[in-house]
Amino acid sequence: MTQPPKDTIFTLTTGPVNCYPAVLQALGRPVLYDYDPGFLETYARASAKAMAAMQTASSPVILQGEPVLGLEAAAASVLGPDDVVLNLVSGVYGDGYRYWLQPRCGDYLEIRTPFNETIDPDAVASMLARRPDITVVAVCHHDTPSGTINPVAAIGALVAKTPAVFIVDAVSSFGGMDILPDAVHADIFVTGPNKCLGCPPGLSLLAISGKGWEKIKSNPQAPRGSILSILDWEHAWRPEKPFPFTPSVAEINALEAALDLYLAEGPEAVWARHARTADACRAGIKAMGLRLWAARDDIASPTATAVALPDGVDETELRRIMRDDYGVMISSGRGETHNKLVRIGHMGPTAQPIYALTAVAALGAALNKLAPETCDIGAGAAAVMASIDAV
Ligand SMILES: *Cc1c(COP(=O)(O)O)cnc(C)c1O
Repeated sequence: MTQPPKDTIFTLTTGPVNCYPAVLQALGRPVLYDYDPGFLETYARASAKAMAAMQTASSPVILQGEPVLGLEAAAASVLGPDDVVLNLVSGVYGDGYRYWLQPRCGDYLEIRTPFNETIDPDAVASMLARRPDITVVAVCHHDTPSGTINPVAAIGALVAKTPAVFIVDAVSSFGGMDILPDAVHADIFVTGPNKCLGCPPGLSLLAISGKGWEKIKSNPQAPRGSILSILDWEHAWRPEKPFPFTPSVAEINALEAALDLYLAEGPEAVWARHARTADACRAGIKAMGLRLWAARDDIASPTATAVALPDGVDETELRRIMRDDYGVMISSGRGETHNKLVRIGHMGPTAQPIYALTAVAALGAALNKLAPETCDIGAGAAAVMASIDAV
């Protein structure tokens, strides 16, 4: 019998993720009055650091809710009854975005792939050629429940040649890999600190291009005086401007601490750490005898590894064993990918190659309890270590 650890020891999920210790310390700092000069300076500094991290020319907008708020706000701010939307669906988040897009626009179009594949830019090019009336294109960069990465730079280059604005969900990739708003021609780039930056869920970060601001400002439907309003928060980073309502003081402190860590380590070094962890994890998963969910290795995300479940294995039971017996928490599939895969996150503080060993060994051992001799844990562990040593 395994002696069950009482609590989760390793949170190796795809978000929320465990926070960096410096972020937890920042959350514990005294909560200042929002118009205290000290907090006004913190807010301005956090905004400037977010701008540096996102490498944009204007300050990002910080909204007061975890990134689904940013995604809904983007749809609400951009869309009106005359808009023609093209939504690119390669996974559960891309599919779910329809829920906010469709009711707000005049015409809704889709390009859809199987959820272990990614969007083909050629298909986008021919759709844009066929429908020059398209005004908005939306895509999820890393569709987390599939662990796959869409070619957003190639798609963005196509959209940039049209009048359409490009909405990119980069919630679970920004900060963990090379994805920057301007480089992919994003007009509304939505992310948050609660995945690869290692913060708790609570804020959305939006980088908006000149084209994006023009679209929002010319849209009479764009919310004002609302939790969904991007316009309300446009100037919040300026210490002389009032906040539309009280900012989340503790979350802003935490965001600044996370950005300090990110900028001090250096984006390239952070991205490389995420990629090395994913490489080690994938090597172990395959050597152990399991399959990746992604149809091809080159579309598999550096910030999460989705592992196809062997037939007949119940994912809830599998994850229960991993947690109860080994203290390791990983993520389930969602929606269409539920019970077809499990996901190991490599995000923020857990993007450390040695964590791949923990994940691979715990997953292999738990699977072997449900389906004996499915996994060669020794081979998996050896492959993880060889991958780490090969760098
Ligand atoms: C985590 C995540 C979000 C934020 O949504 P929640 O499911 O509420 O955490 C949005 N988009 C993507 C791709 C995400 O991974």
